Amino acid sequence: MSIIPISTIYRLVTLRLGYGAEIADECAKLIWKDQSRSINYSQIKTKPERIPGMLWDKIVIHSDNGERLVISGIKKKSSESSLQVLTQRVGSYQVGLLNPAYKQIKGSYDSFKSAFSYRYTRHSKIERWKAENKELTGQLNNDFALQFMPEEKQKIIGKFLSLFSQSHQIRDKQNQKFIAKELSSFQEYFDKVENNPLTERQRLACIVNEDNNLVIAGAGSGKTSVIIAKAGYLIQSGLAQPHEILILAYGRKASKETDERIKEKLPNVEGVTTSTFHKLGLTIIGESTGKKPRVSKLQEDTAEFYKIINNFLTDLTKSDKAYNQRVIDYFVTHLIPYESEFDHQQQGDYFAALQEGDMRSLKSRIEWAEKRSGRKSLQQEKLKSFEEVVIADFLFVNGIKYIYEHPYKIDTATADKTQYQPDFYLPEYDIYIEHFGIGRDGSTPPFVSQFEYTQGIEWKRGLHNKHETILVETYSYEMKEGTLTDLLHSKLEKRGVKFSPLSFQELLELLISIGEEKKADQFTELIVTFLDLFKQSGYSFDTIRVNANQHPDRPRCHAFIDVFEPIYAEYTNELNRSGTVDFSDMIRKATDLVQSGKYKPSFKYILVDEFQDISAIRADLVKSLVDKGDDTVLSCVGDDWQSIYRFSGSDISYTGNFEEYFGYTKKVPLDKTFRYNDKLNDFSTTFITQNPAQIKKDVTSHTSVPTNAVTLVEYYEDVDRAIQHCVDDIQTKHPEKATIYILGRYSFSKPAFLQNMAKHYPEYTFKFDTVHGSKGKEADFVIVVDVNDARYGFPSKIANEPLLDLVLPQSETHEYAEERRLFYVAITRAKHHSFVLFDVVKPSVFIEEIRDERNGSKYHFNQISTEGVASAPPDFGTCPSCGTGKMMMRVMPDGRFFFGCGHYPFCSYTPRTCNACNKYPLIKDGGYYRCKNPECGNVVSGCKQCSDGVMVERRGKFGKFLGCSNYGKTKCGYTEKPL
Ligand SMILES: [Zn+2]
Ligand SMILES: [Zn+2]
Ligand SMILES: [Zn+2]
Repeated sequence: MSIIPISTIYRLVTLRLGYGAEIADECAKLIWKDQSRSINYSQIKTKPERIPGMLWDKIVIHSDNGERLVISGIKKKSSESSLQVLTQRVGSYQVGLLNPAYKQIKGSYDSFKSAFSYRYTRHSKIERWKAENKELTGQLNNDFALQFMPEEKQKIIGKFLSLFSQSHQIRDKQNQKFIAKELSSFQEYFDKVENNPLTERQRLACIVNEDNNLVIAGAGSGKTSVIIAKAGYLIQSGLAQPHEILILAYGRKASKETDERIKEKLPNVEGVTTSTFHKLGLTIIGESTGKKPRVSKLQEDTAEFYKIINNFLTDLTKSDKAYNQRVIDYFVTHLIPYESEFDHQQQGDYFAALQEGDMRSLKSRIEWAEKRSGRKSLQQEKLKSFEEVVIADFLFVNGIKYIYEHPYKIDTATADKTQYQPDFYLPEYDIYIEHFGIGRDGSTPPFVSQFEYTQGIEWKRGLHNKHETILVETYSYEMKEGTLTDLLHSKLEKRGVKFSPLSFQELLELLISIGEEKKADQFTELIVTFLDLFKQSGYSFDTIRVNANQHPDRPRCHAFIDVFEPIYAEYTNELNRSGTVDFSDMIRKATDLVQSGKYKPSFKYILVDEFQDISAIRADLVKSLVDKGDDTVLSCVGDDWQSIYRFSGSDISYTGNFEEYFGYTKKVPLDKTFRYNDKLNDFSTTFITQNPAQIKKDVTSHTSVPTNAVTLVEYYEDVDRAIQHCVDDIQTKHPEKATIYILGRYSFSKPAFLQNMAKHYPEYTFKFDTVHGSKGKEADFVIVVDVNDARYGFPSKIANEPLLDLVLPQSETHEYAEERRLFYVAITRAKHHSFVLFDVVKPSVFIEEIRDERNGSKYHFNQISTEGVASAPPDFGTCPSCGTGKMMMRVMPDGRFFFGCGHYPFCSYTPRTCNACNKYPLIKDGGYYRCKNPECGNVVSGCKQCSDGVMVERRGKFGKFLGCSNYGKTKCGYTEKPL
């Protein structure tokens, strides 16, 4: 200890007589009266400073936590020596602290080096080393203390610290060296393991063994080759024993194929585990519980599954009246997805939805079925909205007689107004029902004038009031809010209407009697699909109810869940009763056993093929095997461009967010396709990357050709002729033997004449498949049929039952994202050339996109027009009334014709036929009417007084003038000056 001399003047001036300061063994101390303040030397990371004054000096000491100790009043002549003593004391104290840490450096160096013991060094290994040495570097990272160390030691410490901060750069360099070495040591192996020598990237995918690895493949880029070659490499390089490798595949078939390929390509290897997820689940449960579970027979026998679900439905509806009501309500109100007028900007779009949905009431379908044998010209009741169908069927299943659009009992017809027909009339009760298409606030759909519509409502209400007739009102918003039938029930009950509801069994029998048993089957199918996906999702009922609240068709979702929940309970009971599990249970139970430590995975390397198809519960199982394994390396091979199984639970987001889910990942993109040429590669890549969410890849082809590899083929109605045209085209360019793959979005696109084709063209092998079925296969030529704008077109507009969104992985925001991938899969099956066929009157959006001139030279393709195209009806224009209906020519039996809207009977707009060419309609365009005939070009002014008259030339007393064409019809007397 040494005392810091304090000036006497200071003590006198500041009246601090007992003031003193000392440099103790471990701290600097300030003493004043009976208190003292001190700073420990270990806290000092900067040199104390001396501040000279006039009469005395100061020394300021900073601690590393921001505190200051100011020693004032130091005698001027001894302040410098005091500072030196203090600094020396602090220095030697800190060197004392640093020495044990310094001694550990060598050990840390060695452990760092051992991380690189002749192998690919993983991120986690370095991270672990860093974690172990974090405290040590914290101690050494002390510049102030370091300056008191001998220079030699300082250098060593500096080196160690920079090693710590650059450990990953060092790892990268070492790994690069290692990869280069392996590439040359294993060159022969990589040259010969597959039929073709592996590409540089495929080799990399084998050698790189990061904690997690994602090999991003493209079509025909040799995914499975990587899996096989990697397994062989791991064994040959001594990284793994065969039994430490697990290769996971989805289907039994794929797993078997992998197994066979390993036997063929790696003949000396035995004991690699190839397994499906299900088999792995069974093994895990069996090994860890001692009891291998029995799989429910329902998982393999779909017919039996349907039967049992139907039995549950029958039993529940028979024993539970409220449940029976729920099922009936679902059938009446929600069997088909609801479309609201309010959700469409153009009336024509709503009309298109009406045309796609069956707008016939149950009553009219029954009448139709009864009378079909007799009169064929019976007019069927076509209702005007989804809501009207619900009301009609609600009345029907409750045994309430109604007449649709029955003329009101009082005559209201005038010169320009037809007789008033309320929507529904209940003859037994003398009640009228009007359904008003308004929102809760009285608003109308975008294409309906709220003013006029509200006036109409007021007129009707006034009329019923005046004549004291009963009017029951319903509203569009009641359907949206899910209260339409409940409210109608109570409104009618109040007015004395008696209900005698059908039972579900009676409803089923009715449907069967009119040939609509398919509707009941589809409902069962929906329940089975929903149940399967519900289990795969791992969601609870609470979760799907929350999802339902956010669904655009909320009431339908809840109605379905209400029907589904008791069936699900029965199903679970059934599994328990029979002591069996289903596939989803198996995977979830296996995951639980791994996570809880009851099963210890022994795999060092897990390889997953077709990773883009993984579902949530399967991803969880893989993750648990990696997390609970002993330093397990995960390698997945997948192609996000070919992810086409969302409908069965595949979640593409696991590929997109791979690293977020599994942890540190090295991605190796495969960059070469072996299947097709550069032109098909360019075309398909351009097409798939229109969706910005797809991973960008730089794929090149092994062959280069000078001509286009895609041909758009237009036809009119006769698709068979178009296919033949394609085959003829193939024949001229490729007369030798070849395989031709005909692909359809749906199985019903299969051409009937396929066998004849084989006879006609013996040099070619023909095969048909759905696009889904074609995954993983290839042919010389591909013909994709029905790329049309239709419900069952390509893209398909009904890809998913919207209810399944409650249990499916989140859908993507890009429109037709999955259909786009399907189209990509279709055209990339071809080695040489793909033909894309579409009907000239309804090309799909994909065709429009490809041939859109605004895309410039984005797509390169050929075009073929088959003979029938010339006979296709011309484009007569679009309906100016509903906005989207196509104008159609209607020919009457006597040969005369007129034009009408394609959305008839929902849109009854009929334009005038052109007075100049008499071949095309005149379509309204602002104040004019234009002929759509490109060879005519006739333009006529519209009448400025009435809504649909045109100005025609007439002759009067004073010569020619223009007058309204409605002069004779509605007495519109509007005229314009002579020409
Ligand atoms: Zn129309
Ligand atoms: Zn014309
Ligand atoms: Zn007029």
